[in-house]
Amino acid sequence: MNQQVFRFAPSPNGLLHLGHAYSALLNDRMARESGGRFLVRIEDTDETRCKPEFTAMIFEDLEWLGLRWEQPVRIQSEHFDDYVANLMALWSVGALYPCFCSRKIAAAHALQSFDPDGQPHYGGTCRALPRELAEKRISDGAVHGWRLNMARLGDQEASVWGDAVIAKRHVGSSYHIAVVTDDALQKVTHIVRGKDMEAATSMHKVLQRLLELPTPNYTHHPLITDESGQKLSKSLKSTALRHLRNGGVTPADIRRRLGFD
Ligand code: GLU
Repeated sequence: MNQQVFRFAPSPNGLLHLGHAYSALLNDRMARESGGRFLVRIEDTDETRCKPEFTAMIFEDLEWLGLRWEQPVRIQSEHFDDYVANLMALWSVGALYPCFCSRKIAAAHALQSFDPDGQPHYGGTCRALPRELAEKRISDGAVHGWRLNMARLGDQEASVWGDAVIAKRHVGSSYHIAVVTDDALQKVTHIVRGKDMEAATSMHKVLQRLLELPTPNYTHHPLITDESGQKLSKSLKSTALRHLRNGGVTPADIRRRLGFD
């Protein structure tokens, strides 16, 4: 039987907290129990939010927790070419269109409905732009992002996202296209991540279908909450692994608290 492949794929836009520790430990345990592989991947395509300092701290925190993973680690910001190749493949089948709207213009024409992240659905200004015109604007150097032409795809589950951004202006990629590209390239078979990612999975499945990539097995685990039942966030100092460690908490304490004993 083929080996199962698991991954923990943090974005270095803040410190790892207990929720990340849970996800990483769970993926590692499932990999070990199945005799499979455990990968760590750094999802830093959004260079406006991600910082190399956080990447260094992620490795340090995971090592401190006692985790070990395969080398070399895939760092997404080093692989924009792979994501752009898939973007172009999607454009060639008409699944995407370039969007020239600034954030302000998109907001002004947004619909009154919202995606699962709470963002208003795009009003569709650039959807009908003829391809030749769009190509001309691109070759003239107009700043643009890329959106999924959801109506054309007719996928009911993913339609909650509207014409989602698949490559951001000034970034050249987005989380969605990068994650789907890398999971396939790295032959990830099992994706185990928090329930907060559940809605995004429908989008990832659409992209896999369009790009003719295999769909891994998805599991969404409950989110770790703080004492008052609130979702943890990267801004919450009290649950950051680094702060816990500085306060004398040991890796064994963390494993016990998260149920990994
Ligand atoms: N990079 C994403 C994050 O840190 C999670 C990616 C995933 O597990 O698919 O929120």
